Amino acid sequence: ATPTALLVGTGRGAQLGILVKGPEVLESTRRVTTVVLDKTGTITTGRMSVVDVVPAPGVDVERLLRLAGAVESASEHPIAQAIAARAASTARVEEFRNAEGLGVTGVVDGGRVVVGRPGLLARHGIELPEVLVSAMAEAEASGRTVVAAGADGVALGLVSVADTVKPTSAEAVARLRALGLRPVLLTGDNERVARAIAAEVGITDVVAGVLPAQKVAEVERLRAGGAVVAMVGDGVNDAPALAAADLGLAMGTGADAAIEAGDLTIVRGDPRLVADAIALSRRTLATIK
Ligand code: ADP
Ligand code: MG
Repeated sequence: ATPTALLVGTGRGAQLGILVKGPEVLESTRRVTTVVLDKTGTITTGRMSVVDVVPAPGVDVERLLRLAGAVESASEHPIAQAIAARAASTARVEEFRNAEGLGVTGVVDGGRVVVGRPGLLARHGIELPEVLVSAMAEAEASGRTVVAAGADGVALGLVSVADTVKPTSAEAVARLRALGLRPVLLTGDNERVARAIAAEVGITDVVAGVLPAQKVAEVERLRAGGAVVAMVGDGVNDAPALAAADLGLAMGTGADAAIEAGDLTIVRGDPRLVADAIALSRRTLATIK
């Protein structure tokens, strides 16, 4: 390959808002067959807001928000920021712990508070009452992310947050398909939410409920099946999968760890540029061959 053409390609990419780590990245970009997209922050804006608060029977909303809000104020997760903003809790949290991809715990008002997936609450001996289990399923079916909260072994209630699909995501998926690429949605969020968001943007292949380490395993499973995999993500939890993929594309709006792990950065976080980067690499290398 002539370096000049590659440099022209990377220069054209930079004009579009696609930053390439080095000219050699264009070669792996051209060979991509499958594009794995993270949900939160990649397909959606990642700016969440609280849309519903459902206390457990006998619990008042104030207490639920005071305790859950205090723990979430110590977390940087988009879900946590939404809950902390809504709760505006004045309570202090001690012994804060982040269970990656599951939720958070901390001691508030002397009690052990857990906020996150029902599975994390179960680990702390907290069962959700049946009314909350069905309320959760219903909210998730409409694409909302629902987290549960509990304190000292007892359920406190649910908080539903909504994220919005980026206005450019459906077109981004259409552009990938037009290039003959297979889009796959990969998320730590649950199956119901993932399916609702996928349907909105035109993705049919969904892998949901995965922990960060499983994101890597999923990328490797696809590669083992013969796919050349591009992984697109924005979070700290996506960094290992970005590194494991044949090509890692980081959203420039995301975490530094993701940008460092990626081969390519989409500066303004517009997912349409994923297809544009692949099309550009094909054109650039076609002029060389
Ligand atoms: P994604 O892959 O969509 O970016 P994550 O792996 O960050 O999602 O999180 C997966 C799930 O873990 C969330 O949908 C939520 O249920 C739970 N979770 C993670 N962090 C938190 C937190 N700080 N508070 C509550 N729940 C959390
Ligand atoms: Mg994310």
